[in-house]
Amino acid sequence: MAKKENNLGFCSFCGRSDKEVNMLISGLSADICDSCIEQAYQIIKDTVRSGKKADNNSLDKSKLPDPEHIKKYLDEYIIGQDSAKRYLSVAVYNHYKRIMQDIDDDGIEIEKSNIIMVGPTGTGKTLMARTIAKLLHVPFAIVDATVLTEAGYVGEDIESILTRLLQASDYNVASAERGIVFIDEIDKIARKSDNPSITRDVSGEGVQQGLLKLLEGSIVNVPPQGGRKHPDQKMIAVDTKNILFICGGAFDGIERKIAQRMNTHVVGYASAKNNTPIDRENLLQYISPQDLKSFGLIPEIIGRLPILTHLEALDRNALRRILTEPKNSIIKQYIKLFKMDGVDLTFDEDVYEFVVDKAIEYKLGARGLRSIVETIMMDAMFTIPSSKKTQLHITHQYAAEQLDNSHFSKTKMPC
Ligand code: ADP
Repeated sequence: MAKKENNLGFCSFCGRSDKEVNMLISGLSADICDSCIEQAYQIIKDTVRSGKKADNNSLDKSKLPDPEHIKKYLDEYIIGQDSAKRYLSVAVYNHYKRIMQDIDDDGIEIEKSNIIMVGPTGTGKTLMARTIAKLLHVPFAIVDATVLTEAGYVGEDIESILTRLLQASDYNVASAERGIVFIDEIDKIARKSDNPSITRDVSGEGVQQGLLKLLEGSIVNVPPQGGRKHPDQKMIAVDTKNILFICGGAFDGIERKIAQRMNTHVVGYASAKNNTPIDRENLLQYISPQDLKSFGLIPEIIGRLPILTHLEALDRNALRRILTEPKNSIIKQYIKLFKMDGVDLTFDEDVYEFVVDKAIEYKLGARGLRSIVETIMMDAMFTIPSSKKTQLHITHQYAAEQLDNSHFSKTKMPC
């Protein structure tokens, strides 16, 4: 009744009459036409979206660094690994464009592209993921795949991955939902053989199955404090649709799988077309999803990690550069530590060579560099703060003596 009485016959917003519009909807004391409804809807959508942006720490297209900038930033912190850096820069850029996409306009939805990095331990996989998170100001969590088990078994539930991310974002769910998770040692949950198992494989295939729903994007109920799910614990619902998952693993022995695959190809017709010689020393560069499958990752997981890249083993030259070149290199950190005590710390060039030699000798890789420098500097760090010294110069002889006197040279330190 009221509707009829108040039917004005023209839109109260744009003033057009019911003859000029497709549809006129009457309210209690005003009418609105179809085009004004559409405009209002757009305004609401834009406002909601910009509100979300503010919530999510500047995820604004204009502020999003392009792949070349991301790569340059990575170059400041990570030595070498050019190929992985390029892949990662593009993947991260596309991922955040995907988050900002407007699906309604054209019906095209850019799909999620999680990443898998394969490379020997201590070559910079974690460092790379961490550096990206720092650049983008998004919450970042590192989890070790080896501690995960299927629900109901001893170990951590898969959902605990998201608990870490929630903790990293101070329980801001919207912010966590755009974060980055680095899953380390993904190779350790490979199933033992290439054939699907008949019996249950608690630590391997079962965990891979559990990871699937996280990787593809779903709403997961997360126990806020981690640990086991408890019937009366209040859960937090987290949508993983926009969380970027970066997986890393050493995949020890995968070179054999790559070689096998490539040998079969060499006898095939592809060899006639492609005569470029194979670099047998660095087979990892030829890694393909097939090799991950041969190693024991299930095809569904591989499908959800479409960006596959590799990291190279660090040679002598790379180790030497790692010591002094990155923005927060180990040596720069020690110089800063001493500077805070008013001490100017300097090193002989050959101290660096010595440290690298020892890292190689003890097979400690890049992780060993820090423990070796720490051992060399230990005495000085103990005595200098209470002395009146303003200068400290480390010679090759001093470094060698410090290392000799420590238990370092007797026991091979764990990295
Ligand atoms: P992983 O590949 O096992 O994840 P990390 O990224 O944890 O290796 O590397 C361990 C440490 O070694 C880093 O914190 C960093 O100090 C050093 N490091 C390893 N690779 C590089 C690299 N390419 N450039 C600079 N530092 C590196």
